[in-house]
Amino acid sequence: MCNIGIRFLNTDFEHDIFELIRAFYPEAVFDITYDEEREEGEACAEGSDLCFLVLKEKEEYKIFYHTNEGSGVISAGEVKGQSGETERDALFGVTDRKATKDKIKYELYNMLVRTSGRTLPWGNLTGIRPAKLAMIMLEEGRKNTEIAEELRSRYLVSSKKAALAVAIANREKDILKDIDCRNGYSLYVGIPFCPSICLYCSFSSYPLNVWQKRVDEYLDCLIREIRATAAIMQDTGRHLDSVYIGGGTPTTLSPDQLRRLLSVLTAEFPVCDAIEFTVEAGRPDSITADKLAALREFNVSRISVNPQTMNQKTLDLIGRRHTTEDTVRAFRTAREAGFDDINMDLIIGLPGEDENMVKSTLDEVTSLDPDSMTVHSLAVKRAARLNIFRDEYKEMTFENNQRILDLTMQAAYGMGMSPYYLYRQKNMKGNFENVGYSKVDKAGIYNILIMEEKEPIIALGAGGASKLVVPNSNRIERVENVKDVSNYIARIDEMIERKRAGITRWL
Ligand code: SF4
Repeated sequence: MCNIGIRFLNTDFEHDIFELIRAFYPEAVFDITYDEEREEGEACAEGSDLCFLVLKEKEEYKIFYHTNEGSGVISAGEVKGQSGETERDALFGVTDRKATKDKIKYELYNMLVRTSGRTLPWGNLTGIRPAKLAMIMLEEGRKNTEIAEELRSRYLVSSKKAALAVAIANREKDILKDIDCRNGYSLYVGIPFCPSICLYCSFSSYPLNVWQKRVDEYLDCLIREIRATAAIMQDTGRHLDSVYIGGGTPTTLSPDQLRRLLSVLTAEFPVCDAIEFTVEAGRPDSITADKLAALREFNVSRISVNPQTMNQKTLDLIGRRHTTEDTVRAFRTAREAGFDDINMDLIIGLPGEDENMVKSTLDEVTSLDPDSMTVHSLAVKRAARLNIFRDEYKEMTFENNQRILDLTMQAAYGMGMSPYYLYRQKNMKGNFENVGYSKVDKAGIYNILIMEEKEPIIALGAGGASKLVVPNSNRIERVENVKDVSNYIARIDEMIERKRAGITRWL
């Protein structure tokens, strides 16, 4: 672990600069300070192994760095009205923020390669979804080879990842061509309870044993929100494209609670017209034949049974509190119940898991033959217990590398799948990506719609964050429900009003 100091005298691109530095040094402890003026003679904050000073002189951004081995500086001048801006901007010398940012990140990335001695698979891309970037260029009519070249040369993405982003953008474009996103929307419903809390979890999920008595109360409020939102959405004249019930673990609900929720949801929203209806069953220990029967009664078309790993030792360590046999049983029961579109989620980089352990998980998943598989690279956010108790796990290896990711891709291809969606998160081990693979016609449409931000996603329940894609613009407006369950229950009227105001204003 190292200590890094960053001093900002100019904060125009503070977030982008910080995120790129952090991508190179994920384990570092940061000391960030803000100053008005540069003090003469100062080099590094005391105790820092590496420090940066960010400032702007006239129209030039400069980043000075200082390490024990030496120091240096990079500079990037402001770009005036070029890409994406108007001729008028160029004429009047208006700064093109995006082009300026790209230039700073390009220079900073090369500097960080020198200070750290390594490169990143996704180059200087932080905070943007690579497939979305590729999709934008595809929609501009650019050729695949041109897009890959731009990803490599402008964003310094590796050849392998550039090819992956382009392949996924093409598959997404093909899937989306039959969906009228301009007049559609999708629905997310959150059930924030789980059988136990996983060590790496940073969602707002609540252990069922503690919250059992309030689940019905939560459902009462959720149903109120469903009814009110259905009426609001009807007034927009939009059609419903996909529905996703996630969490948490929706199958922590009892069969009767599931029926209650699904009967209201399907009565209030035109779910039967949607292309896809997913329930993320998720935790195998919550899945029973009765619950699967309830899902089938309401024509749920796609479910997820998530092993994360098929190594029992790891499951015990990460607090999943289910067995690998539970996963096999849940998957087979779902097949017997008639589900022909089952996804399985895996996590790479779990504590103590090496290449052989990942291989054995992939072998077991392959023998089950799911319809899609989502491979996540472990991302440990600040809120996760794994981070809070990091000293306890410091002896453990968290292995993730391109060879392991290649194994997952080979296994997916071996099952007749190909990649269809991709996203990245902060704090991912190895700075890699999450990739969804699926067989033909088994891609999760909701996953593509939410990643590509093609249409509004209306989110219901505690922690639901609606993303409203404003018509005829690239703007996304967010309307958020409170995360805390007690708060959600107490403030349900306010949540409904927030949603009404947002949807009426933006859609
Ligand atoms: S199942 Fe998912 S939501 Fe629930 S505790 Fe584990 S990681 Fe969190």
